[in-house]
Amino acid sequence: MTSDKAGQAQATVERALKATEVNPYEMFRTQVGLAGEKLRLPVDLLEMIKRPERVLEVSVPVRMDHGGIEVFTGYRVQHSSARGPCKGGIRYHPGVTLDEVKALAGWMTWKCAVVDIPLGGGKGGIVCDPTTLSEGELERLTRRYTAMILPLIGPQHDIPAPDVNTGARIMNWIMDTATVLRGEPMYAIVTGKDLGVGGARGRREATGRGVMIVTQEILNRLGRGLPGTTVAVQGFGNVGSVAALLLHESGAKVVGVSDVSGALYSPNGLNIPELVDYVARSPNRLIAGYTAPGVEELPGPEVLTLDVDVLVPAALEGQITADNADRIRAKVIVEGANGPTTPEADVILEEQGRVVVPDILANAGGVVVSYFEWVQNLQNFYWEEGETNDRLSRIMRRAFQAVWDYARERKVSLRTAAFMLGLERVVQAIRLRGIFP
Ligand code: NAD
Repeated sequence: MTSDKAGQAQATVERALKATEVNPYEMFRTQVGLAGEKLRLPVDLLEMIKRPERVLEVSVPVRMDHGGIEVFTGYRVQHSSARGPCKGGIRYHPGVTLDEVKALAGWMTWKCAVVDIPLGGGKGGIVCDPTTLSEGELERLTRRYTAMILPLIGPQHDIPAPDVNTGARIMNWIMDTATVLRGEPMYAIVTGKDLGVGGARGRREATGRGVMIVTQEILNRLGRGLPGTTVAVQGFGNVGSVAALLLHESGAKVVGVSDVSGALYSPNGLNIPELVDYVARSPNRLIAGYTAPGVEELPGPEVLTLDVDVLVPAALEGQITADNADRIRAKVIVEGANGPTTPEADVILEEQGRVVVPDILANAGGVVVSYFEWVQNLQNFYWEEGETNDRLSRIMRRAFQAVWDYARERKVSLRTAAFMLGLERVVQAIRLRGIFP
């Protein structure tokens, strides 16, 4: 694909996203409502749980390279601290809205509860297109945003992490800014940092590794294994590319992948290690321009409807909607992204016998290893990667089993089971603590 084509593809995706008008916070409230009704939770308690504890909006002035000032809008939302300090990533994207950040913060609360780690949910975001910013602009934006949300975040309050378009470099700047402003080492204020500055071995791969583990678990429950299973992955960033690589290494045949620049398809299986290498070397980290014998280009959205055993949406929310759900052919959908399936689409998928492993379980590997990173920072004692991966695997498999059993006992979908289980644990914490004053 040429960069022109990549630009056109991005515009098409953005138009499609606008056309579906999925409001993630409405989606979140609907999901909580459904699980809450099944648990017969009182309406007032449910309303309390649907709403975030605290919301901060900041206007972030940045001196741009051309000399003028641009003001960016940023958010930090703390959904719940009932089970521990808030935890959740920071997203840099032109489509960031307060409702999106509120929903993402809420999903973090259930996610931490489902995998049973002692953290609550939070999330942040800046409305920006990082691909148009120079390195210096990105650093000044990050440092000023950090300074402006500093009253809210901290190792015992709220610990950010990477999300879409943010990675270790940005986390390092956040840690350094907090350290300078507070005048003491602040390694534990943010996770997903580079190894040389308090990062955890295995953190970068953790979400994709978790996706691979739950894919293995669900296939085992369905009487199958990974070898020979065909897979399509939407999104080839941190989550999608690592999930594709680990699934490939475990014997699955990854036949389709996409990113914002388009999709690639090969019925015989893509050479994922080669593609990962290609993307790492390409300027915008895109699959655009990759060619290999037997590999065809497809329009990006078509990756979702490929005839495969497993579909891993690992891009953004609101991708599987009422408009395309009946064309999904994968038997199993493992949600690497947060909120990729709308509630309407969920109903259609269930009617058609598709099995969805929900985001709050499937992509929890990232927050589990973020939890490990935070623990290591607090203790100033660092683990081997093997220890991280073993502990991650144990937690993910235990959580999968708990959700699977819960779903079978109550005859509900895995999503409803995960929400009910998470909600039960959060409600229990609220009841044990009581309502202040
Ligand atoms: P990333 O920025 O590294 O990658 C995002 C990928 O999605 C890129 O390849 C991008 O080109 C692609 N993309 C964006 N819009 C697309 C579209 N409309 N169609 C196809 N591809 C598109 O982000 P990430 O960290 O991999 O996050 C992806 C998803 O996973 C998000 O929903 C995020 O909230 C979720 N998630 C991330 C983590 C983590 O540890 N990074 C943890 C849990 C959940």
